Amino acid sequence: MKHLLTIGDLDRGELEELLDHADRFAEVLTRSVPKVPALRGRTVVLAFFEDSTRTRSSFDVAARRLSADVINFSAGASSLNKGESLRDTVETIHAMGIDAMVVRHRSSGAPHRIAEWIDASIVNAGDGWHQHPTQALLDSYVLRKRLGSLDGRHIAIVGDIAHSRVARSDIEAFTALGARVTLVGPTTLLPPTLSPWNVEVAHDLDAVIGDLDAIYLLRIQNERLAEPLIPSNREYRDRFGLTAARARRLRADAVICHPGPMNLGVEIDREVTANDDRVAVLDQVAAGVPVRMAVLFNVIGHGRFDDTPSGGDEPVPAETNEVHS
Ligand code: ASP
Repeated sequence: MKHLLTIGDLDRGELEELLDHADRFAEVLTRSVPKVPALRGRTVVLAFFEDSTRTRSSFDVAARRLSADVINFSAGASSLNKGESLRDTVETIHAMGIDAMVVRHRSSGAPHRIAEWIDASIVNAGDGWHQHPTQALLDSYVLRKRLGSLDGRHIAIVGDIAHSRVARSDIEAFTALGARVTLVGPTTLLPPTLSPWNVEVAHDLDAVIGDLDAIYLLRIQNERLAEPLIPSNREYRDRFGLTAARARRLRADAVICHPGPMNLGVEIDREVTANDDRVAVLDQVAAGVPVRMAVLFNVIGHGRFDDTPSGGDEPVPAETNEVHS
């Protein structure tokens, strides 16, 4: 695979293979020196044209754990502010000799355009409302770990589906892995058409909550709303929020996910996040590293992953400054 642009580019076998690779990288992360030289000599640029906390830092850690060189590029501190176009900017970065560019952009389709402009591997780290494929992979990874498999499992994705790249990517990943997906939310927060997806819809969370293996709560994307689509946060919480009372109706072995950042007291109550072992939010953050290692290795690694070249638990030898003529 040269790029990772959308989940739809991967079939079930490819998704499962990436999750299996992530498992192997998760083992590397438990070692006393949690680092392998798999991407030594390779350069990864993190090109974030929109804000991010978790995604950016976990790509950064993932690339460093694979011994890649990492360049961090922030739109805020760049010549984009002096009027340079996106194309000029990425071509300039590319001219420095890079192997992969991890792109986040507020416009849907930006990573696809960049993949046409430069000859580096492009990994989509979130584009507009469209896709966030590594989020879907890490969500699938966590659900597979907690539930054993997604096959036949009933997962509800609750809230602002219309503006959510996470929802679009998760729907594709979860259904490809065999799950039954129900979208739950008010009509104003559902996309106008659901036709490409094999999903069910419910407008009453209480009607489905007792049947779920997992509940995936989405953030209300206030920054993407031109006008309010819900009457108030309080009303949203009353109908769709995971309150302590609703959490009691979830199965004892159900999984509670949220991609972060969370609006506590809206999508989920603080009481639930603080006290309920079924909440997998920190597992999701932790899974970001091995999953993104698997993705980066897949797009720019050489051949098969050999996890022992640095001698297992032996420290990775320090880089030398030797120049080969
Ligand atoms: N962090 C996720 C994203 O970048 C989800 C969110 O912002 O609500 O799409």
